[in-house]
Amino acid sequence: LEVNAATVTGREGGQHGTIMVFHDLTRLKELENTRQEFVANVSHELRTPLSLIKGFVETLIDGAKDNPELCTRFLGTIEKHTDRLTFLIEDLLTISKLESGQIVMNLNEVNLNNEVGRAVDDLQSRASGKNVKLQNTLAEDLKARADADRLQQVLFNLIENAIKYGRTGGNVTIGGKALPGDKVEIWVKDDGPGIPDEARERVFERFYRVDRARSRETGGTGLGLAIVKHIVQAHGGEVWVSSEPGQGTTFYFTLLQT
Ligand code: ADP
Repeated sequence: LEVNAATVTGREGGQHGTIMVFHDLTRLKELENTRQEFVANVSHELRTPLSLIKGFVETLIDGAKDNPELCTRFLGTIEKHTDRLTFLIEDLLTISKLESGQIVMNLNEVNLNNEVGRAVDDLQSRASGKNVKLQNTLAEDLKARADADRLQQVLFNLIENAIKYGRTGGNVTIGGKALPGDKVEIWVKDDGPGIPDEARERVFERFYRVDRARSRETGGTGLGLAIVKHIVQAHGGEVWVSSEPGQGTTFYFTLLQT
């Protein structure tokens, strides 16, 4: 708490009273801490691939370049980390634009079955690579009001996570239904290892990962679900997760009906 006090003096010099101003700095302090933490996280996330890239470049310069096999392998690794940096920067820009309100949602009536179908097509080869069966069970006429491109991003991130963190040879099912009132609910379900209780609330936080090494290995930026949450909220919807450790995970979100 910050207190500013001033004595009020009359024209004749007599003291009329005191004005005290109280500022509650808790919220400001919290914001400042969040900002500092974010900058520290971003720096760390950028530094990790950069130092790996530098390490491989140095090894190449020191002689590995003369061994064609090593050279190809190291260049491949360098490319992978460069891609990670690109994804990270793209996600950071998206988050920053969403948070500053620079992205205006272009709301139209969308057919959810078609939108899920598009995301499923885009991820089909990823799923096949892990022997995962993707299934779209949405009714053909389910509709909602949404920005089609942003909705693609939501569906892509959730389905990609279900493939990435789900079981090899498992099932990923996408479904949905109209809720009583004016809402539509969509869910993405996997039969993977699930999310531990204490982590469930935190997975939507920027850079939070249950298993840091696993997320890195799969090329995750740690920002996917934070982006999902922003986009869904900008549509007037909500997003949540339910998970039974060992049984699987289901992410749900709502949109408004047309
Ligand atoms: P990342 O880039 O790490 O995938 P996300 O924001 O998309 O970042 O997800 C945050 C974390 O939530 C992931 O690192 C992972 O630990 C956990 N997670 C997300 N989806 C699932 C899922 N379907 N099953 C288990 N864990 C998940």
